[in-house]
Amino acid sequence: MKKIPILFNIKEECCGCAACYSICPKEAIKMELDEEGFEYPIIDENECIRCYKCLKVCYFK
Ligand code: SF4
Ligand code: SF4
Repeated sequence: MKKIPILFNIKEECCGCAACYSICPKEAIKMELDEEGFEYPIIDENECIRCYKCLKVCYFK
């Protein structure tokens, strides 16, 4: 099976814009608050169909 996309390695690579969350056709991405109150996307491996739309929409990539 193809690999789960990596949306960011370090938090500086994600501004929390939620574009990935919005485009995911499987609603496999959740925006979760970190300890400082900023939202970051988390992918549910069981829901993700590896379409990589989330990577394409992310302007950090
Ligand atoms: S689209 Fe990119 S910058 Fe925006 S929340 Fe998703 S990973 Fe972060
Ligand atoms: S690869 Fe596709 S299904 Fe998986 S989280 Fe990204 S947009 Fe959603």
